[in-house]
Amino acid sequence: MKGNIAVLPGDGIGKEVTKGAVEILEAVAQKFGHEFEFQYGEIGGGAIDNTGSPLPDETVDICRKSDAVLLGAVGGPKWDNHPVDIRPERGLLKIRKELNLYANLRPISYYSSLSEASPLKKELIEGADFVIVRELTGGLYFGKPSERVTREGKDAVVDTLFYTKEEMHRIIKLAFELASNRTKKVTSVDKANVLESSRMWRETAEEIAKEYPDVTLEHMLVDNAAMQLIRNPKQFDVVVTENLFGDILSDEASVLTGSLGMLPSASISTNGPNLYEPIHGSAPDIAGQNLANPIATILSAASLLRLSFGLEAEANAVEQAVEAVLEKGFRTGDIADEQSTKLSTSEMVAEIKTVL
Ligand code: ATP
Ligand code: MG
Repeated sequence: MKGNIAVLPGDGIGKEVTKGAVEILEAVAQKFGHEFEFQYGEIGGGAIDNTGSPLPDETVDICRKSDAVLLGAVGGPKWDNHPVDIRPERGLLKIRKELNLYANLRPISYYSSLSEASPLKKELIEGADFVIVRELTGGLYFGKPSERVTREGKDAVVDTLFYTKEEMHRIIKLAFELASNRTKKVTSVDKANVLESSRMWRETAEEIAKEYPDVTLEHMLVDNAAMQLIRNPKQFDVVVTENLFGDILSDEASVLTGSLGMLPSASISTNGPNLYEPIHGSAPDIAGQNLANPIATILSAASLLRLSFGLEAEANAVEQAVEAVLEKGFRTGDIADEQSTKLSTSEMVAEIKTVL
């Protein structure tokens, strides 16, 4: 098959890890007889330096014309106090809106060879394998008004939690679709004992559950979910929740695998290309030193093959190659211990390519 992939390396280690993932995609293309074309776009601090905008129109255009987008990471200390605002709403939140990326999928898988990397007890996390589905374009992060106000003469503030029923429906439906192909359990997370929005969320989940008789629906309050993720993560298959809750829970869940450098994500669009990125940031402390773990981005590329191109065997091959390399004891610095062989970013990419 032929595929058009937009690559947005961004800043810091984003450049190094996307380079590694593109190499793996090229190796996949060669091995399985596909043709991928890569179009590069600027985003983040580098884009500000070169174009004056953290998300130039040209980048959005490249993305819209692609079949899938691979993103590295954006930002860094250089732009923290920059006159051009690099805050999320100008860069990352904007691309989510532009591409209608309404759902963020974060698979959390336990790697037996990395059990020492997590601060959690091995017995608790061994075998854990679930996906967090986070709503990405609604809720508190986008609701208007969001501003400082004066109310009853007092300095005050308002943020708005707004969702349409349709927005809830499409994300919860996606969770049920995913669960149908997994172990058939959806845990819907809300705060229905307090929030009106959560009561509509619950009602919507119940309606959708009727269409999926073989999928079990469970409701869980977000405070309890935060605890259960650590106490008993093996109970979960697909966890679905709104934007703010999902932001917090997905970072919390990352502790299970021990390093940010291991965790991929996929953002699903209503009508255009999906976007795939590691969950970590631009890691200014190690940027440009060939030290970053490229696995999160390589696993994001595996999701790209599976979800955007339907290349299941190819995606599995990449995931198995990553596991095989870890089994051999190869590690980048973030996941290394005394027994492991320490590799640079490019060496790790080369090892994964060898076993692909
Ligand atoms: P952002 O605000 O962009 O999310 P951040 O400051 O929250 O950035 P990261 O940039 O993700 O966080 O970095 C957090 C820590 O994790 C840093 O010490 C960084 O070096 C480390 N880290 C992040 N990603 C990786 C990786 N792929 N390989 C190795 N270390 C990483
Ligand atoms: Mg961060």
